[in-house]
Amino acid sequence: MTHSFDYDLIVIGGGSGGVRGARMAATTGAKVALIEGDRMGGTCVIRGCVPKKLLSYAAHGFEEVGLLNGYGYTTDQPKFDWRTLIAAKDREINRLEGIYNTLLEKGNVEVIRGWARFLDARTVDVAGKLLTANTILIATGGQARMPDIPGAEHFITSNEAFDLKTLPERIAIYGGGYIAVEFAGIFNGLGRDTHLIYRGDKPLRDFDEHVREHFYDELKNKGLHLHMGRSITQIEAAGTAQILTFDDETKLEVDLVMAATGRIPKVKSLELDTVGVALNASGAIQVDAFSQTSVPHIYAVGDVTDRMTLTPVAINEAMAFVDTVFRGVPRSQSYANIATAVFSNPEICTLGLTEAQAREAYPKGRIYTSSFRAMKHILPDYGERTFMKILVEDAGDRVVGLHVVGHAAAEMVQGFAVAMNAGATKAHFDATVGIHPTSAEELVTMREPSGTWG
Ligand code: NDP
Repeated sequence: MTHSFDYDLIVIGGGSGGVRGARMAATTGAKVALIEGDRMGGTCVIRGCVPKKLLSYAAHGFEEVGLLNGYGYTTDQPKFDWRTLIAAKDREINRLEGIYNTLLEKGNVEVIRGWARFLDARTVDVAGKLLTANTILIATGGQARMPDIPGAEHFITSNEAFDLKTLPERIAIYGGGYIAVEFAGIFNGLGRDTHLIYRGDKPLRDFDEHVREHFYDELKNKGLHLHMGRSITQIEAAGTAQILTFDDETKLEVDLVMAATGRIPKVKSLELDTVGVALNASGAIQVDAFSQTSVPHIYAVGDVTDRMTLTPVAINEAMAFVDTVFRGVPRSQSYANIATAVFSNPEICTLGLTEAQAREAYPKGRIYTSSFRAMKHILPDYGERTFMKILVEDAGDRVVGLHVVGHAAAEMVQGFAVAMNAGATKAHFDATVGIHPTSAEELVTMREPSGTWG
């Protein structure tokens, strides 16, 4: 390793991918610096997965208390205080940020505070301080994409949603992706009048069609106001309220409107054009299977590359980068059979192919579906239904898709991801004895296909 530079590795961005890459590279004896202009931990820890999951736990409170009535309890209507929740959430995020800082310090990573921009292919400028490195890893993540409409300045994004001083009564969320449906579940669960506005016919466009249908019905049953096939064309302030105008000229008055209309890679301030790092059509940094950019000693991982924008994927890409560049064991990340969960209410977890994808990938196959009320919901006579779907390709009998909508879907599916990565067949599923009584046992007891293709 050359020592004619200040560092062997400079990592730009202290999120999940950057922190892991920096720490792991340092364990190989490399001299590593990590540059971060904001709080350590990035989107996931500070303003994404972690605080969202905490809020989503909170949002099940009223529902859970309602279920207790079916079990012999008499409960008064509980009271909820948003400020108390946010203060507790902040304490936890501060604690986690502290852990990240400690890990970097103990891991011999030099943390440099500020925003980086490239001066040349091996030099970055952080607030006037010039730093050079043999290898550079870009892990700057992404940021919310705002719709370009009159009054767009009235939108908040998920960033602000985590720190609202109060939670108003009427809330609109614009978009139909992960963030939109997760926050819709949070605000609705906390008793707010929640409107989900989406340009498509049902949320979660790329998900399995059955999953989408089931989920849509559940959202309706939970009292969300669903405005599908609609776009917001204008937002006007009216005192503390916001008046939304839709493309069909109808209007809706709310107290808060949140944009959850996708995220874009955070590249602008890096001034990548000065070094010739190529971007792809969606504005993400273009990389090969080893996360190498068009400039050979510059690598990029995580959301800034827009491959699969999930924290564990960014972490794995970072570890593969360290193996490749610092351990001499070139390794690329596989994107097959990565389970992904939406922490909406109800929760969704999806693994492998959708039915549409399976039909395209395999000439013949079988579809197994099941819809039932979870045992916990029977005594309280609660209407929510759990939905499960398994897709099997005929030639090898392999399970190629598995989808669950319902309580603890993510906890249920993680183990099945191991099985699918090991090439599990439907015969393996059939030979597995269920755990009774659980919802998960249904995944190994579905015997009759509900459909076939090919
Ligand atoms: P998504 O890409 O999931 O969804 C964006 C939504 O906004 C889509 O419904 C899209 O509609 C809509 N949209 C996009 N542009 C416009 C526009 N100009 N006007 C109106 N609607 C628009 O993005 P998110 O921001 O929700 O999340 C980003 C990514 O972060 C996710 O894809 C996921 O990878 C990750 N994430 C993961 C989570 C998890 O693992 N639990 C949680 C949160 C985020 P259309 O469908 O028609 O394109």
